[in-house]
Amino acid sequence: VPLGLCGMRRLATATQSSVPSGSLLYPMTNLSSLRGSQPLRIVAGKGAKVYDDTGKEYLEAMAGLWCTALGWGHEELVDAATRQMRNLSYYHCFAGRQVPIAEELADKLISLAPDTLQGGKVFFGMSGSDANDTQVRLLWHYNTVRGLPQKRKIIGRVHGYHGVTVASGSITGLPHVHAQMGLPLDFVRHVSCPSFYRYGRDGESEAEFVRRLAAELEELILAEGPDQVAAFFAEPLQGAGGVILPHLAAQWTPAIFAGFETLQRPSGYFPAMREVCDRYDVMVVGDEVITGFGRTGKMWGCTAFQQTVDLLSCAKQLTSGYVPLSAAILPRFMYDAIEASTERRGGVFGHGYTYTGHPVSCAVALKLLEIYEREQLLERVAQLAPQFQRRLSGLGEHPLVGDARGIGLIGAIELVKEKETKQPFDASRAMAAKVVQFALERGLIVRVLPNDVVSICPPLIVSSAEVDEIFDRLEGALSDALAVMPRLLAD
Ligand code: PMP
Repeated sequence: VPLGLCGMRRLATATQSSVPSGSLLYPMTNLSSLRGSQPLRIVAGKGAKVYDDTGKEYLEAMAGLWCTALGWGHEELVDAATRQMRNLSYYHCFAGRQVPIAEELADKLISLAPDTLQGGKVFFGMSGSDANDTQVRLLWHYNTVRGLPQKRKIIGRVHGYHGVTVASGSITGLPHVHAQMGLPLDFVRHVSCPSFYRYGRDGESEAEFVRRLAAELEELILAEGPDQVAAFFAEPLQGAGGVILPHLAAQWTPAIFAGFETLQRPSGYFPAMREVCDRYDVMVVGDEVITGFGRTGKMWGCTAFQQTVDLLSCAKQLTSGYVPLSAAILPRFMYDAIEASTERRGGVFGHGYTYTGHPVSCAVALKLLEIYEREQLLERVAQLAPQFQRRLSGLGEHPLVGDARGIGLIGAIELVKEKETKQPFDASRAMAAKVVQFALERGLIVRVLPNDVVSICPPLIVSSAEVDEIFDRLEGALSDALAVMPRLLAD
């Protein structure tokens, strides 16, 4: 997978030998690509723009790593963090210690949570990965206390992304997260992903495709044994795996842009998967780490895609990336069973991090949720989404683009060698990486995802003019790539 070229600025004079990159081990980077090149050095940010160490300005159309909803340099968030640090920089919640601001945030999150989680509980962590690990531990704990200790298997999806810890990284369905590390661990299985564009068969309707995926899930559960399978993990839309939506998004018509609601054309995928899970007492974990807090135009992606969840993980936009924070939300009935078991056994609930409920993170999140409401961010996304999606679908006309897909303020283009047959480029061409590099030269930050996908996910505070600018620059980058393509393909 040609990941990692994103953000790397080739130095014209550098050699391929070794220009050491200092002591930092770069995450999710093709480390050998660092030889003879120098990472893009971002040193400042304001609004939807960031600046490198030479002063060059970039439109940051990936919200960092899908997280900076309110953009950079938001004074109110800075103040909220500073005030909290002065007042109480740290305390913990172990052994029932109460950190009032963590309680306040948990209450707030439950008030915003989908219906199935009303009355539920919130467990705080620091990252999306640890939130999903927490979900696995909660599921195992719950199944044990209800007399089903063997019900431990987790089903993820190909192209799914749930993190990189050994548990969440196993549930992730991307080869580069597993390779050379002996993952996935043996309690994890994967089913197909709902990319109709890539995996729909000739002559198959979308409804038939959905039925096939639901049947695949059912066959897997039956093969493993329903008494062995604890949960099905699914992002409402698969983000890092390629911005894969559980519905067809290829053929927008002008009428579709008349209203935001009509942008959502659910295929029945999640209801069909849910029905299977319900039949075999398999819980559904909604991973809202990217989609949570308005990215799709709804507070939760699960609402946008008719996904009914039993547990929900969120992070990223929860603090707009200002400080680390994640939340694993569980339903009341699970909590009650776990709580009752600690009484029976006289034991503790043996899970918790030093930074669970960190007061500074909670203070930032509370302020952020206040700003979301005050500035009606959901309405703002709904207003901008038609323009964003119209421009995105316009890129679908470009000769290099096989599919342009998205919802709300998130989208992606999938590059292909031949539009009709959807034939991909040879991976060694690193086509998407080249488009991303051309975009960078034009002052635009977008991202390479597996299978020659380029993703776009700007801060939610992006302006209408900036949306146009993002797509103008991306269109320019595609044309740059097209212009050099004969040479690239001859290389
Ligand atoms: N789940 C999803 C859906 C994600 O997109 C990510 C990160 N991109 C994670 C989990 C992992 O989050 P983190 O990197 O904070 O561990």
